[in-house]
Amino acid sequence: QKVLVSGANGFVGCYVVRNLLEKGYFVRGTVRSAEKGKHLTRLFEQYGHRFELAVVPDITEEGAFDEAVKDMTSILHTASPFNYKSDDPKAYIDPAVKGTVGMLQSAAQNAPSIKRIVVTSSVASVVHWTSTRPTPWTEDDWNTKSITVVEEQGVHAPDVDKYCASKSLAEKAAWDFKRTNDVSWDLVTLCPPFIFGPVIHECSRPEDLNESVDVLYKAVVKGLPDEPALVRPGANWVDVLDLAEAHSLALEQAAAGGHRFIITAGPHVLQEFVNIAHTLNIIPTGTLPREIPEPELPAPIVTYNTSKSKHILGLTYRSKEEMMARFLEDLKTRGWCG
Ligand code: NDP
Repeated sequence: QKVLVSGANGFVGCYVVRNLLEKGYFVRGTVRSAEKGKHLTRLFEQYGHRFELAVVPDITEEGAFDEAVKDMTSILHTASPFNYKSDDPKAYIDPAVKGTVGMLQSAAQNAPSIKRIVVTSSVASVVHWTSTRPTPWTEDDWNTKSITVVEEQGVHAPDVDKYCASKSLAEKAAWDFKRTNDVSWDLVTLCPPFIFGPVIHECSRPEDLNESVDVLYKAVVKGLPDEPALVRPGANWVDVLDLAEAHSLALEQAAAGGHRFIITAGPHVLQEFVNIAHTLNIIPTGTLPREIPEPELPAPIVTYNTSKSKHILGLTYRSKEEMMARFLEDLKTRGWCG
């Protein structure tokens, strides 16, 4: 099996590549420049010829992936902007949509060997961030509200809606492409919420952490500007190791083809991770935000039905404690504890 992984130098991409290499796959990882590939070459040196790089400078260019897809048997498309660095909705939507459709087009035209494509989507494409519906959300739900908000408000839309719209539009475009083209592969999409864990991609200072890990780092170590954010319900999480495993299971399970999967370990408030940091005592606890006993924490307001991921993919989920132990050990090793 030869797997193309786009966005190989990202937080998720790096773990996805490592998971595949550990399982014996051949992996070609795309990065925007040779410079961005250097860390990966070092990180995956032990896997020898089973890891190689492909430079794809601009995923919004037509035919960007034409060379990279050649000879591959499957694709995991993780590359997409997840940061709030621009006001312009196009900065989110163009790479997400054109990158995804471009990847599918290149696969359709240049790689008849491809049997399956897995696109990393998000719960951002399932539920709107302001929702408080009490019933669990499922793979049948779509966040169309963010698309409307961005259409109506443009640059003035909340940045979170720009990101969510980019994920909804990209995932919809992927399913539309599959429906309207006669191709050799089937499609799987994965919808995770906040992904947490220690980073293995290139990151030499906390200021450069990727968006989701930055949220956890600030909540637990750096402190958030407003304490209520620590107890604000609504978010869900998944361990990056489980999400990486979900990607390879999505390739391996024949029955997964044609399905969309919500991938989450469950709801959280950030305060829970603070409490766990106190209990684990891996980094100095004196500077942590105070503990708040669990009974005083708010009940979840957004939950998901994850039975498809368990029954079709066969995925199991790690606990908050397990993820936090690895996360804090890593912070201690890096000296990023305060
Ligand atoms: P990172 O920012 O760490 O990685 C994103 C990857 O996508 C990088 O390789 C980045 O390349 C690439 N990328 C971003 N924008 C562009 C662009 N315009 N052109 C080419 N490549 C680009 O984010 P994550 O690893 O967290 O995210 C990976 C995927 O997971 C994304 O699809 C994201 O939407 C999804 N996701 C992430 C969640 C999370 O909590 N982290 C939650 C739900 C979904 P470069 O480094 O060169 O910018």
